[in-house]
Amino acid sequence: MGCNSLQEIAEKSPLVGIARLAAQSPLLRERAEVEYFRLEARSTLNRQSNGRRPFAWTINPYRGCEFGCQYCYARYTHEFMEMWDSRDFERKIYAKSDAADLLRAELRHGRDKGLPIALGTATDPYQPAEKQFEITRRILEVFADFQGLDLSITTKSVLLLRDLDLHRALARKHRFSIHMTVTTIDERLARLLEPKAPTPAQRLEAVRKLDQAGVRVGVNVMPILPGLNDAPRMLEALAARAAEAGACGLYANVLFLMPSAMKHFMPFLEKEFPQLVNRYHRLYARSAYLSGEYPEKISKFMAGLRVRYGLNGTRPEPLAAACHPQMTLPFCSGSV
Ligand code: SF4
Repeated sequence: MGCNSLQEIAEKSPLVGIARLAAQSPLLRERAEVEYFRLEARSTLNRQSNGRRPFAWTINPYRGCEFGCQYCYARYTHEFMEMWDSRDFERKIYAKSDAADLLRAELRHGRDKGLPIALGTATDPYQPAEKQFEITRRILEVFADFQGLDLSITTKSVLLLRDLDLHRALARKHRFSIHMTVTTIDERLARLLEPKAPTPAQRLEAVRKLDQAGVRVGVNVMPILPGLNDAPRMLEALAARAAEAGACGLYANVLFLMPSAMKHFMPFLEKEFPQLVNRYHRLYARSAYLSGEYPEKISKFMAGLRVRYGLNGTRPEPLAAACHPQMTLPFCSGSV
């Protein structure tokens, strides 16, 4: 469906707010399976509460994410735009082209600059669209004109190496860190879970390059999915690889599964891991968040790995989660 169809929808239905903006968004580019639109943003810094830190700022240069991770909970954000097919999240990408200009104005007005600013909390700031639109890069250029901020970037993408010059500059001027999400080092499993994201080996190589460039970088094992990437030997192997690559921290968070994410994830599970379907239904029957024995066990195990592999980074835990959205909602008891 192209731009015209969306405009027709806008004319026929009483869309409001972000749904209306999205319906009016001009098409920027079209590829076989993906359409890119220009979205008019009202602001770049969004104030967030995640329950652990009372307030902080988040920035998401794009709505939607082409990486298409099966567990991604942020798919619900397309529902705000009246898009109910969960796959639209990875097929209709909205680029906030004015984000850098808006940010400059917002920073000049001094919006509580002491609070942490996390880039990439709902969608990946270095997803494929960034290669063409360079919105994240322009945002970083704005930050490079300021100093003394608390900044972090969370991504699964190796495209971030394009901006190594800026990362180094930001590391000199701000409290700055990057959080690379690596959910498993099992390449086959990663391909199933995160079909269009760079391979774990590529991501760990990016960690190495960031560390060599003097940029603080941690590894986010997020989300941990029961029965899929939670085997102790797999987690230990991942911790060892992260440490060897130069990561300074290791963070983890157990999957939470909201109804919108479940709608996409459960059919995937039925197809690829049918033996786990009943377990997931049982685990997530009453709540999107796991509590009790399982997250506690994971938490303890990860704490042990951090000590064993020297991954107790002095920086605080990342505001943005590896599966970016996992920590933007009220922090759950499954977090570790
Ligand atoms: S989990 Fe992150 S990288 Fe994966 S689709 Fe969602 S936003 Fe993109």
